[in-house]
Amino acid sequence: MRKKTSQLKNYIVATNIFIIAVVMGILVFFAGVQHSVDKNSQKTMMNNAARQSEHLRTILAIHYQYLNELAKEMGQDEELISQEHLDMLASIYESTDLERTALIEPDGTAHYDNGVVKNVFHRRYFKDAINGQQTLSDPLESSVDQETRVVLGVPIYDKNQQVIGVLGASYNVTTLSHMLFDDLFDGEGDTLIVTHTGKIITYEDGNGNKKQIGYGDNLFTYYAEKNKKQENTLGQVKDDFLSNESGFIRLCLDNTQTKDYYMTYMSIGMNDWMLCYIVPVKAAQKSYAFIREYEMIFMLAFCVLVSILVIYIVRKNNREKVKILEAAQRDALTGLYNKDHTQKFIEQILQKESGPHGFVILDIDYFKSVNDSYGHLVGDKVLSMLGKFLESQFREDDIVGRIGGDEFVILMRNISDRDKAEQRIHNLLKNLPEMKIEEMDNRGITISVGVALAPDNGNSFIELYRHADQALYETKRVGRNGYSIYNPNWTENVTEE
Ligand code: GH3
Ligand code: MG
Repeated sequence: MRKKTSQLKNYIVATNIFIIAVVMGILVFFAGVQHSVDKNSQKTMMNNAARQSEHLRTILAIHYQYLNELAKEMGQDEELISQEHLDMLASIYESTDLERTALIEPDGTAHYDNGVVKNVFHRRYFKDAINGQQTLSDPLESSVDQETRVVLGVPIYDKNQQVIGVLGASYNVTTLSHMLFDDLFDGEGDTLIVTHTGKIITYEDGNGNKKQIGYGDNLFTYYAEKNKKQENTLGQVKDDFLSNESGFIRLCLDNTQTKDYYMTYMSIGMNDWMLCYIVPVKAAQKSYAFIREYEMIFMLAFCVLVSILVIYIVRKNNREKVKILEAAQRDALTGLYNKDHTQKFIEQILQKESGPHGFVILDIDYFKSVNDSYGHLVGDKVLSMLGKFLESQFREDDIVGRIGGDEFVILMRNISDRDKAEQRIHNLLKNLPEMKIEEMDNRGITISVGVALAPDNGNSFIELYRHADQALYETKRVGRNGYSIYNPNWTENVTEE
């Protein structure tokens, strides 16, 4: 019993370990998938940002090229401020994205395309351009339309390669940021161009929501206020900005960590400007959403499979157990109950059912001579055939067992009376000659039978066995091939012989 309990325990432990291993395997798998989704969406974002930064530089380069060509043409003429050149300024506005344009003399007098004349000597972009550099001004927010503009300035060289003036044109950076990333992540990302101290030059809200920050605000102050816990992360970004480094971070814009964003940033390569791209993690991973669905299907299929497997193992194990238990009850040669179990089952019936029952012992006559004449194998075959024959002669709920060499015990359960018992034994003996053994020239065998009745002749296996054995002895004594029913008066007679 203790062995069985410990086997059961081992079995439960093994099943649990198996299930835990499977669950852990699934979790590791899902974590791996999530890691890979994170990595890929980050990579996509960084690639996009790099491409857009390149795009931005290309757009500016095209405009510089256009301005340089015009400046070259103007430099060929004797006079810088001429009607022809002022007309050219107007044409720039018509044929490009460049807006207000101006021709600036070396003393800083700027002649605008709309006829306004103003001195811009103190402007950085003018100073740089008059010194021969192609420049980009700091952004300026228009008080008229709130758009942020910058001035692109190129020097104008005369035939002797002397700088004789500056050609300037303003460019709407807001338009520029509109173009960027519009087609990415369903336009859910926010695009920012900021200075290396985090001052916003332009901010484009991807969702079309009301802008919460804009030109002149500080990116770091804005995010630090959203979630104080992010100081360290932002510190790292600040350092990256100052050293023009690219980077990628995960930002949480509220304390409950429900608004997670990816942010990637890199230097544009003009002035100290950085391009930032901020996308909700959900939106960045939208294209991987199908994986979640497959994960669910996979998980479901996996659970069903594991359940089927566990049920199969449990059932198979139970069947094996039943088989082993049955095999332990049976006699290998005949398939009948063995001695221990014959006794055990008969005892159980005697305890539970009051009877009457017929307790039968039968023994093959002169079985030694069968072995001697035909060999042990034929002897075995006779035993096995007799086992089957006995099973066919008794009811299913009778107990039929082999308890020794050529000795069998049968409990005829719940027989109505002594006559019925006698009749069944009589029939048994009558039918036995039908069992013919090929190897014995189709001859049969005879048996001797002894019967005791429960409860008249005893209430226990031992008692009934003893009395049925005496009846068997009596049958053998009077010549075999027959039966006797135990008679309490025999005792002395038998002992006398
Ligand atoms: P009796 O009529 O008095 O019963 O004589 P018997 O020759 O049958 O003698 P007994 O019942 O005492 O002997 C049983 C014999 O059965 C002894 C042994 O050789 C034989 N035997 C016992 N077990 C097996 C077995 O598993 N296979 C075979 N082939 N023979 C067995
Ligand atoms: Mg015998």
